[in-house]
Amino acid sequence: MKGILEHQIKIKKLETFTTRYVSAVRLTMEDGSQGWGQMSTYCANITSQIFHQQIVPHVLGKEFNDFMDMGNLIMEREHKFPGSYVLRALAGLDTALWDWLGRKEELPVTKLIGGTVGKVPVYASSMKRGITPEDEANRFMKLRDNFGYKAFKFRVGAECGRGRDEWKGRSEKIVVEVPKKLGPGIIKMVDGNSCYSAQQAIELGNRMTDNGITHFEEPCPYWLPDETKKVTDALKIDVTGGEQDCDMRIWKDMIDRKVVDIVQPDVMYMGGLTRSLQVAKMAELANMTCTPHAANLSLVTVCTMHFLNGIKNSGKFLEFSIEGVDYYPWQKDLFANDPFEVENGELTIKNIPGWGVDFNRDWLEKAGYEYSESEE
Ligand SMILES: [Mg+2]
Repeated sequence: MKGILEHQIKIKKLETFTTRYVSAVRLTMEDGSQGWGQMSTYCANITSQIFHQQIVPHVLGKEFNDFMDMGNLIMEREHKFPGSYVLRALAGLDTALWDWLGRKEELPVTKLIGGTVGKVPVYASSMKRGITPEDEANRFMKLRDNFGYKAFKFRVGAECGRGRDEWKGRSEKIVVEVPKKLGPGIIKMVDGNSCYSAQQAIELGNRMTDNGITHFEEPCPYWLPDETKKVTDALKIDVTGGEQDCDMRIWKDMIDRKVVDIVQPDVMYMGGLTRSLQVAKMAELANMTCTPHAANLSLVTVCTMHFLNGIKNSGKFLEFSIEGVDYYPWQKDLFANDPFEVENGELTIKNIPGWGVDFNRDWLEKAGYEYSESEE
């Protein structure tokens, strides 16, 4: 990504449109050209404060021609704050810069990184644990028949559950029930969300293997990579992880030691597309697949489709949340044009510059507004 821009350019203004859940960013360059991005969801009101206080001062009115170098510079200046919040805020700047560049070059972001527009196969991703195995299987069958999904992911254990299940027997049952109802032609995946000890995960994982499940995500607490590695080494199916991780040292270790089979960076937790591409490249050099994490229908899923189509070692399917307004009321009416129409189990990246979406004007008007502007 070195020298991604032909000329050095200055950022003139950065505006944020914020609710408790989402914060959109509008970037304006000194020549008046603009781009839109988003910070990571949840506690976005706090992230937006960090954006104006710890990101903006390092870039406003400064010349640059390289997104990676700019991101690194911010992290160096903020080296006492190496964690999630600063990167969640950085994602707002980075995704706005990619959108700006796409609009400037009149190219979709995926083309800027070597990808192509068109169809992106998705997997239907359930976020619910309170649902019974029967209801989950029935919901999946309807989605399969109505939208043509060819792959599904469902939940086992309790989230960071210290080995406990949502209720007794649910996980043992759901890893049999859902595959049986969906049948052999459909890809079946499971997410443990940091629930299990290695021994528990291996036992349940063997049951998954016997029932045709091919992907076991975050089986053990993600902060215990040695536990996860025991599961990866023991099971025949793919063990996957990395959605929470944003520190490059952790990624290097995960990839060097093959802690998981498949890496799952989240564009927004990572600090944007630039750093996510860096993780995908590290995985590619180690012959590992990258199936990014994207768990809601905000800009994260839009960015991730462009990302997935632009890397050589992408997994076959983009994660696509199947939860609606009952689960995610805040994602309603976020965009003016609906980028999430699934047909035949696929989304489409259209040939529109940048990310190819616009935030909804009404949503922006209702959001809390702040701006920082260069005086030069
Ligand atoms: Mg997950």
